[in-house]
Amino acid sequence: MLFIDLDSDHIKEALKEHKRIIKCRVFRKLDVYCLNKDCPTCNARKLNFKSSSIENNIKNYLLKDSHLEDLICAKPSQMKSLSDDFFKDILPSADYNQLENYFKTKTKNEKETSYPIIFNLFIDLGKLFDYNL
Ligand SMILES: [Zn+2]
Repeated sequence: MLFIDLDSDHIKEALKEHKRIIKCRVFRKLDVYCLNKDCPTCNARKLNFKSSSIENNIKNYLLKDSHLEDLICAKPSQMKSLSDDFFKDILPSADYNQLENYFKTKTKNEKETSYPIIFNLFIDLGKLFDYNL
């Protein structure tokens, strides 16, 4: 495993750049203007972003406070609690309580049929964070 020194200036700069680019791309998929003036990502002509139809509750969550930045820049040790907060906020409690079963379900078809709300949430997350879309 490669050790990454989070205190080094290069890594701090790389994290800032990573945050800026991913935030810009996700914002655009949410149909929100990138707030970065002279953003190089927006100015790159070759990049063609499609806005995705994303459920409003997901959009609202990601645009509230620093939720999106927190998710983009979280350390591995923070991910569990951040993802928990996310799912608790987004899913109705009956579905939140089924998350573990959802992950244990093997086939796509069974996931879609047995847990449609969770299944659709992951479809939306795929649209937002899949870099190729
Ligand atoms: Zn931008």
